[in-house]
Amino acid sequence: MVFKIAVVGLGKIATDQHLPCIAKNRNFKLVAGVSRHAKVDQVPCFESLGQLRASKIAVDCVALCTPPAVRLAMAREALDYGWHLLIEKPPTPTVGELLAMEAYARKKKRVLYAAWHSRYNKSVDMAKAKLKGHHVNFLKVAWKEDVRKWHPGQEWIWQPGGFGVFDPGINALSIVTKILPEPIFADSATIEVPANAATPIAANIRFKRGDGAAADLSAAFDWRQETGETWEIEIGTKDGMTLHLKKGGSVLFVNGKIAHEAVLHEYEDIYAKFARLLKAKNSDVDASPLQLVSDCFMLGKPVLTEKFV
Ligand code: NAP
Repeated sequence: MVFKIAVVGLGKIATDQHLPCIAKNRNFKLVAGVSRHAKVDQVPCFESLGQLRASKIAVDCVALCTPPAVRLAMAREALDYGWHLLIEKPPTPTVGELLAMEAYARKKKRVLYAAWHSRYNKSVDMAKAKLKGHHVNFLKVAWKEDVRKWHPGQEWIWQPGGFGVFDPGINALSIVTKILPEPIFADSATIEVPANAATPIAANIRFKRGDGAAADLSAAFDWRQETGETWEIEIGTKDGMTLHLKKGGSVLFVNGKIAHEAVLHEYEDIYAKFARLLKAKNSDVDASPLQLVSDCFMLGKPVLTEKFV
């Protein structure tokens, strides 16, 4: 079966990944684009989901690549039209909205796939397998990059629901929540917010284990690093194993020795999985990375920093 798909929110990630991966996947046929300003070649384009619906073009599913703050209303509208959904990360600005979206998809008997792209990586899968059954007592996440390089001109990231530095940071937490054998919890955080923004430019977080056992668990997110990217996760276990995921989780070192270097095909894997979910009529929604981010904001101490210009 070939699923007729429309891509909604024709910005950076739609152009960089969704459209090329749809073109490569024989399970999907792009039938339309939906965006207020941008267009995609070779298919009809509309400014809203309502206009797409009114066109009577047959659609099975849509990929929502808009910013998270506007997703719930768009998701509900698409579900009302009977379309299945793939949504970008972070799925929604709050856990409450994600639960509501999940419930609405269930009510409408449609597939909802909330994708976490950083999880689709063989090195990440290997790390998860290595950690199974071990007691993790050390975690150090460093997720640092230059916001001007990775989010040029994007205003929404600084507005409420835009996540700020937690937009990339949640990628790290999506890996952490996938691979750790037991959940961790936010303990405290310092969240630096520019005086002219609603969302953070940096954050330092302490986590804790659920059983109260001593552990050194932390994450540092920073959008002010202008000298390349640091996307790393170090993990230590009580019995002395060390894991080090580098380059966004694509390279894995175990006990100091390289164990795997993955070729990245995150979005190819996401579309392969979306096809499987559609065929099986199953949804896939994991709120745990969003819950952790939400808890960091709940417990975090906000600190005003200089204006971002
Ligand atoms: P983007 O370049 O700003 O694109 C988002 C598009 O959504 C905009 O171009 C805009 O197109 C549309 N849109 C609809 N309503 C909007 C609103 N109220 N405010 C702003 N834009 C609106 O953003 P992006 O980088 O592609 O990110 C989109 C989502 O993908 C985010 O959740 C992000 O975390 C995720 N993501 C991004 C990357 C990346 O490398 N950038 C990687 C992985 C995941 P129109 O103006 O034409 O409607």
